[in-house]
Amino acid sequence: MMEKSICKRDISLLKLLSAINEVPAGISFIIDDEDKLCGVVTDGDLRRMLLAGYDLTSNLKDISLGEFVFAKEGESIEEMMAKTSKKVRLIPIVNDQMHVVDYFRYEHKVRMLPVAEPKLNGNEFRYLMDAFLSTWISSRGKYIDLFEKEYASYCGVKYGLCVSNGTVAIQLALEALGISNGDEVIVPDLTFAATINPIIHTNATPVLVDINTQNWCIEPSEIEKAITPKTRAIIPVHLYGQPCNMDAIMGIAEKHNLKVIEDASEAHGASFKGKKVGGFGDISTFSFFGNKIITTGEGGICLTNSEELYEKMKILRDHGMDPNKKYWHKYVGYNFRMTNLQASIGCAQLERIETILENKKNIEIRYKEILSKYRFIEWQQDLPNCSKVVWLVSILINGLDREKILDVFKRNNIDIRPFFYPLHEMDIYEKYHFSSGNASKISKIGINLPTVDNIDYEKIDSCFAELQSELEKDLIKS
Ligand SMILES: *Cc1c(COP(=O)(O)O)cnc(C)c1O
Repeated sequence: MMEKSICKRDISLLKLLSAINEVPAGISFIIDDEDKLCGVVTDGDLRRMLLAGYDLTSNLKDISLGEFVFAKEGESIEEMMAKTSKKVRLIPIVNDQMHVVDYFRYEHKVRMLPVAEPKLNGNEFRYLMDAFLSTWISSRGKYIDLFEKEYASYCGVKYGLCVSNGTVAIQLALEALGISNGDEVIVPDLTFAATINPIIHTNATPVLVDINTQNWCIEPSEIEKAITPKTRAIIPVHLYGQPCNMDAIMGIAEKHNLKVIEDASEAHGASFKGKKVGGFGDISTFSFFGNKIITTGEGGICLTNSEELYEKMKILRDHGMDPNKKYWHKYVGYNFRMTNLQASIGCAQLERIETILENKKNIEIRYKEILSKYRFIEWQQDLPNCSKVVWLVSILINGLDREKILDVFKRNNIDIRPFFYPLHEMDIYEKYHFSSGNASKISKIGINLPTVDNIDYEKIDSCFAELQSELEKDLIKS
């Protein structure tokens, strides 16, 4: 593009326009009779010249060129980057004679405010280095044992088993409970797809039931309606940090002799009637993905109070191999192991889980202070018997469509997340539909707000003000 982007000072605006039009950057370096750089003209500058009264037959040499930014040959990248900005993204590079020899281009990306980000400012790096230097970098080592023990104990459960991620944790639980072909497993319609996929992979049949409008979790009365002679298990999901009604769910499970796997991937530390989630089901699972309450990068854990289930999961996790007879396989197993490196990060995260939860809680409080004036916002509730945790601050926005909401925040570089789509709405899961009225309703109006440090609350406020005026416009129209 170099040659095309250099124009003589003595040129008609029409010719300059067509030259600028030829180069994708929309810019022209102007040189004088001695080929020295004497100006930079962008397509925007041309537009301003025409608006100022010049026309396409005018000659550029009769128009004064403003100041311009350039770099000298030999300048460092950092120096050149400092000369660019959101407006000036491309600058010419000249030699000692002011002849253009090259150009430098840099796009200043505006950083999106993320929805979630891991905080690794405790002992994470120290433990990770320790694990690394010990050379126990695979799936054995002290941090695995420690993390399993400590996390189980944090949740008040006897046994913990680390796995590669929260999805295979569910798979492992299903396999250990002997769920297979022909069995039906009841799951909420509103959850991340990781809850349903392992059921399908075990050849069992998921049954998608509706949620409750208060806690957005699986509705116990819908579970009862969906039970058939084939039903074997329920997977309640503590969605967005809110515990399910475990009294009702465990009651139904007992009455119908069903297994319960709690998917607690989004609710580390939440409790129901004073007891931590993860301690109710036959097995419970957690995810330690990077955006979860605590993280190991990728990772997950299965918790259980049953020694038998623990032993079986342990064998299945390790190729189904008999622990007392090397290379003798009892089950068609898997390799679902977590590494000692990941567990080392987990140990450091767990040390600070209370601080992390407290911090997220305060973020929600701050949001409420600033945004409670918007009547169209419905907050995630603090329900009796439930002590929810804040994973991502979750709200419902009444009266506006999802696209409009996403658009306003995106334009302001704020990364909000819409709620999950109801699973039954997707072609691949449609056939598992049982009931879904509330899930469809809530999913359409729910969003997660950034739940990280350094939130620009004023900017968020102005986004909501914009939504408010959209809402008022809609009201006037109707
Ligand atoms: C994150 C998550 C999982 C598991 O996720 P992984 O990325 O496999 O660790 C499972 N269920 C729910 C509800 C989740 O949010």
